[in-house]
Amino acid sequence: MVRDSGAPTDLESLLQGNPEKVTRYLLSSGRMAMILLDRKGVILDCNAFFLESVGLSEKPVGKSIQAFLREGLQAGWECIRGDCRPVKLTFTLNGPLEYFLSGHILNVQEHYLLFAHTVRLTDHEMVVKLSRLTDELTDLTRQLNKKNRELEAANETITRLMNTDPLTGLTNRRQLKERMDAELSKARRHGHPLSALMTDIDHFKSINDTYGHAAGDAVLVGVASILRQTCRKEDIVARYGGEEFVVLLPDSPAAAALDCAERIRKAIEGNVFPEIDRKVTVSLGATLFAPTDTEDSFIGRADAALYEAKTSGRNRVVLK
Ligand code: GH3
Ligand code: MG
Ligand code: MG
Repeated sequence: MVRDSGAPTDLESLLQGNPEKVTRYLLSSGRMAMILLDRKGVILDCNAFFLESVGLSEKPVGKSIQAFLREGLQAGWECIRGDCRPVKLTFTLNGPLEYFLSGHILNVQEHYLLFAHTVRLTDHEMVVKLSRLTDELTDLTRQLNKKNRELEAANETITRLMNTDPLTGLTNRRQLKERMDAELSKARRHGHPLSALMTDIDHFKSINDTYGHAAGDAVLVGVASILRQTCRKEDIVARYGGEEFVVLLPDSPAAAALDCAERIRKAIEGNVFPEIDRKVTVSLGATLFAPTDTEDSFIGRADAALYEAKTSGRNRVVLK
């Protein structure tokens, strides 16, 4: 219908009278995806809204539309008969996002023209999608937790290796230093008695020389095991150097330290080491922590006591 002024008053006439404006709108700012496809579904052209919908910056000319579809159009192109067919499509965006379009495929000359607009999901579809995403998230969380547990276990192993003497499995010197710092400050703060024993295997070099290094190692392992068994759980037993061991005895006055040292001495003296056919003995220096002590003066005094034990005949305990 056309008015006296010549301006159309119905939509169809108006659209037909202004094809450039309508075309420009549909191609650039319209919220309707438009895709021109050949008979096999290869994209020949598309508008801006389609690009936006699938997260592309360039027209995917030459690509099959199937590359962007998660659902829809699977029936095959041969099935599209007639001039116009309604379609529902699910596009995959970058990543796991999906975009739902609903529209029509038009048979236009040699090609197909796909018009589609976005559709809101129904509540049911939303719930299904959400629960799928939740499942995926739960699965990812489970995997992440598993990895974290593996990482924690690996860290524990590393810490254990860093703090342990590989031959005897005892606390190593590095870790003893840390434990000693803590024990010394506890003893200072609370005034609890703290004692130390410095233990050294007698004539160990001769064991190595007579029976070989491997037998020497076995004796070290045996002595370490006796030390661990003879001391309390809360005592810190460390390999200090080659055949020297330090025992820290928290909450132990000198008498208790002497008692423990004597038990160790006797246990080792009485032990049979199957790798060698002689007795093994140790000498021990014992000392009690004084509030004015540093770590060096504390351990130094235990060392001096050990020296006395050595020079006065070995296989004995000296308290200083
Ligand atoms: P003393 O009674 O005066 O302590 O004499 P000793 O022979 O025990 O002392 P010395 O310091 O002369 O010798 C200690 C030996 O310990 C020398 C060294 O080769 C040996 N040694 C140190 N670490 C290890 C080890 O890990 N395995 C073995 N088999 N021997 C070791
Ligand atoms: Mg020594
Ligand atoms: Mg020795």
